[in-house]
Amino acid sequence: MRRRKLTIGLLSMMMAASVAFGIQGNDVHAASKKLSVNRVYENATRINGKTRKKNIVRVKIGKKTYKAKANKKGKFTVKIPRVAAGKKYTLKSYKGKKLYKTKKVYVIAKKLKINKYTPNSKSISGYTRPSYKVKVKIASKTYVKKASAVTGYWKVKPDNNKKIGTTVSVKVVNTKGKTVIETKKHVHDYKAVYKTVHHDEAGHYETVEAPAWDETVQRRHQVCFVCGRDKTQDFIDSINNKTYPQLPNEYFTIDDMKEQGWTEEAGWPHYNSDYAIYKEMGVNPEDMKDVPPFGMYLASGGWDGHCDGHNYGSQTVDVTVHHEATTKQVWKVDQKSYDEKVLVGYKCDCGSVKE
Ligand SMILES: [Zn+2]
Ligand SMILES: [Zn+2]
Ligand SMILES: [Zn+2]
Ligand SMILES: [Zn+2]
Repeated sequence: MRRRKLTIGLLSMMMAASVAFGIQGNDVHAASKKLSVNRVYENATRINGKTRKKNIVRVKIGKKTYKAKANKKGKFTVKIPRVAAGKKYTLKSYKGKKLYKTKKVYVIAKKLKINKYTPNSKSISGYTRPSYKVKVKIASKTYVKKASAVTGYWKVKPDNNKKIGTTVSVKVVNTKGKTVIETKKHVHDYKAVYKTVHHDEAGHYETVEAPAWDETVQRRHQVCFVCGRDKTQDFIDSINNKTYPQLPNEYFTIDDMKEQGWTEEAGWPHYNSDYAIYKEMGVNPEDMKDVPPFGMYLASGGWDGHCDGHNYGSQTVDVTVHHEATTKQVWKVDQKSYDEKVLVGYKCDCGSVKE
């Protein structure tokens, strides 16, 4: 106990001695050096403060250095160009050519400054009076931040990494709890607006040729068992070539014809076997009025009488059906129909439009 008291006494004695002989530590000396600056507001054109009398105070703003000389009482005024809120400058006080003391100066917002943001920004920041509270409403949620006591800087970052969006409301509350600023800020967020333009299919007709072709089909024909003649085909050929008998003639009179059912008005009578043949030929029975019935052909042993007395019967035979070459118009597509998105302009959710 006694020993400790002695030590403290010795220490204070040593300190007193150092003051007396003027060998002060640097820190002690610096504390006594004076450089104070009045608050600098945005758009200020001068910086006022106090330092050691007759000192030169310099401050670099942009590329230029501005200076002023302190008066006998140490007061100084440095004329400066207008400064913006949030800027930081270093004031340097010189005693002659020797740097005497430096001090940082923050430019304080008079009311509220909101830094530039876009609707996609993830945070919003700005400046207001130091220690004021900033209430920022983003998408119906209010965030409260206290501005820095030194710089007045504030920053709000919406929860869940959300974007700021186009519209924010900002309230500033002073240190006494009174709302001093209430403002709404809107930043347009122009989004492209498109319309759909429909383009019809475009094309042209082309003539496409299908060549002639023969088809083999099976038919029931009357065939001669003796000479093998296809009687039905021979009869058909006589119609196609108009080689059937032109009646009446010297052997077959009008009376003979009438006996077989021929009339002036209706021509020759026709039966099921005739209609089957016309169908196979693809002709109109109305046009066959002067074609004698197949029954007559058969009874005559063919128009040439060659098969007279030959037995015959129904057989399946291969018949060649000839199809003529055909042409048809075929639509060829040059350009399929499509919907084109055409930019009309840009629109913000507030309704503002931009061409
Ligand atoms: Zn807008
Ligand atoms: Zn369409
Ligand atoms: Zn025959
Ligand atoms: Zn053919």
